[in-house]
This record gives sequence, C-alpha cells and structure tokens, in this order.
Amino acid sequence: MGIIDLRSDTVTRPSQAMRKAMATAAVGDDVYGEDPTVNRLQEKAAELLRKEAALFLPSGTMANQASLRTLTRPGDILLAGEGAHILRYESGAPAALAGIQVQTIGRDGLFDGADVRAAIHPDEAHYAPTRAVAIENTHNASGGRVFPLDRLKDVVSAAQERGLALHLDGARLFNAVIATGTAASVWAEPFDTATFCLSKGLGAPVGSLVCGSAEAIRRVHRARKLLGGGMRQVGILAAAGLYALEHQVERLADDHANARRFADGLEKLGFAVDPPPETNMVMFGVDDTTGFLRAIRARDLWINPMREGQFRAVTHLDVSESDVDEALERIGEVVAEGIR
Ligand SMILES: *Cc1c(COP(=O)(O)O)cnc(C)c1O
Repeated sequence: MGIIDLRSDTVTRPSQAMRKAMATAAVGDDVYGEDPTVNRLQEKAAELLRKEAALFLPSGTMANQASLRTLTRPGDILLAGEGAHILRYESGAPAALAGIQVQTIGRDGLFDGADVRAAIHPDEAHYAPTRAVAIENTHNASGGRVFPLDRLKDVVSAAQERGLALHLDGARLFNAVIATGTAASVWAEPFDTATFCLSKGLGAPVGSLVCGSAEAIRRVHRARKLLGGGMRQVGILAAAGLYALEHQVERLADDHANARRFADGLEKLGFAVDPPPETNMVMFGVDDTTGFLRAIRARDLWINPMREGQFRAVTHLDVSESDVDEALERIGEVVAEGIR
C-alpha cells in the first residue's frame, strides 16, 4: 500500500464518474446568470437548506467572508466560537475585507445564549457594536464536533432577542446531518446566511454555497463580485458539486465509522483520543510531536499536528476501512520503536 493521507478531507480526488459529469455538463456564462448547471446546483442547495436562494462561490473562505460583509459594518464585532475557522484560518479576512473584529466566546467552538448575552455591551458610544454571531458546524479545530441543536437554539434566541444577525459556517454541515439525522434545513433554519463546502467530505474538487433569503443572496452576490469571485463557464465545477450532493452525502457515514475505528485502534495502542470522534475527525495526543511526525511520514502515513502534542486525523472518500487498519499497523510500528 502506498501513501495514506489523513491530513484533511480536502485531499480527495474526483472519481471517473464525477469527471464524466463534469466533462459533459451544460455550461454558459455565469456572470450573466446563464450557466444552467450552476443554476441547477444553486436551486438544489436552496432546496436542501430550505432557503429562498443560493449562490455558488469558489471557496468556503469566500462564502464566509462575502456573507460577513453583508451582515456587518466596519467596526462591528462578530461573535464566534474558540478556534473559529473564520478567525483562525482565513488570513485575517474579517479585519481586512469586512473591517470587523471577531470576539470568541465559549469553549472549544461551542457556546450558549448566556455567552452571547454576556458578550454584548449596551453602551455603543464607547464599545464596538456587536452585530452578528457565527456558528461553525461541525467545528473543525475542536475535532469535527457537532454543535448540539438545543445549544444552537439557545444561541439563536439570545441573538434574536438582541437583534444580532446569524451566520452558519457549515463547511461540514452534511457531516452534522449524517451524524445526527437532523436535516440540513433544520440546522440552517434560523440563519441569515448559511454556507456549506462541496470540497470537503462531499468530495468535489472546488466550491461552496451560501444559502439565504433572496435579498440576502442578492447582497452576497454583490460581495462575491467585489471580491473577484464572479466565474464564467463554471458549470463544469457545479456539475461535480451536483454529483457530490446526489451520490456522496449518505456515504459520509462510512467516514464517521472509519474515524471511530481509527480512534479505537489508537486507544488500543495507548494514545489518548479527545474528544471522542463525532464525525470524520480524530484528535489524539502524542508525547513527541516532531519525532512522531517524522516516523509516520517515513512510513507514508500523512497526518498533521494541530498544535504541539496533538494530531488531527481526518477520514474521507479516498480512505477505506483497510486503509485505516493499515494506518494503525504503521503507527504500531512507530510505537514499537519507542516513539509516541
Ligand atoms: C475548510 C473550511 C472553510 C473554508 O475553506 P476553503 O478552504 O476556503 O474552502 C470554512 N470553514 C471551515 C470550518 C472549514 O473547515
């Protein structure tokens, strides 16, 4: 067996069937709104999240940032969970592109209505106004955790009570859907703007969607243009997204089962897995970050450290159950060498 790549669910390659759908897609100039495949994808996304409209964008980062620009004004505060992708992995975009500050609340990406209320300062003459709340579901940096629906509803009622806009960073929304059995439309219902990525667990090469009211999407459309995200015969990519939504949603359950299998195996080898995997990520502790990384790399096993002493393994479309077992074999060899 060759390289086993557990760095991220973004590393998947399009299958022959997906490539065929791409190659044969009907296309047109999407800046004129004339790409039939893009239009079909946007209709499908809006239908899945039960919103009036949806817009196709080149990345999850642009989907988040185009949304945030429409929900806030420069100087505003956006509340988000610890380790939010929006804050940590989007190159400073909230400050640079929307002119906003991000204030983190709660722990490990999760928070409650009380955290929202406590974060808001009533005196806007001296304090920046809190304008919006972003929820990340599933939460990447904390290991693919699902934001529990009751806590989400509690946050929503606090936000609504204080007149805050709501944004869902649903890069891995369908992992939450498959893990809980709660429909995407239920998760997305209270949000003004809700995103999801086609390029993560769903296995398409490119693309994200923002869903919302017709008015919200009209504004996001303008922000997409401003950010340089207008695309032309992009039905070729939308076709991959449609294929993914039609064929690669239910199978996320396999990724979740593989993540649990990997976590069990790691525990048998004496590694601490924390938190227990809820979706397709496994966070585990090591004593020697550099040594462990070097040793697994030498065995063609690719897993990234999240921080000193902690690795994050991600299961996906291109990792089978036997790949998971093989990965555990290789880690077993590393442990036998005295490295962990
Ligand atoms: C991957 C990801 C995004 C978007 O990333 P892109 O690489 O820009 O598509 C946004 N939010 C979360 C939580 C993510 O994991």
